[in-house]
Amino acid sequence: MPLAYLKREGLRLFVWCNACSRNRSLPVEPLIAALGPDCPVPAAARRLRCTGCGGRDIESRPDWAPESPGVISRHI
Ligand SMILES: [Zn+2]
Repeated sequence: MPLAYLKREGLRLFVWCNACSRNRSLPVEPLIAALGPDCPVPAAARRLRCTGCGGRDIESRPDWAPESPGVISRHI
């Protein structure tokens, strides 16, 4: 699944650190700007560094269920 898919669906990227379990939801636009729209989601995670412990054991998945209820992000 490429980053462009998340953008098209209005999804954010949910990432977490295997070392310290810190997690957050990231907007995909900056990632696409840095890595390109065809970059696969798992590959994008490997480019990230944990803001908590500095670790690079990061995993990611599409953020299917945003924490803010009622937010529809399908604006074109
Ligand atoms: Zn960490």
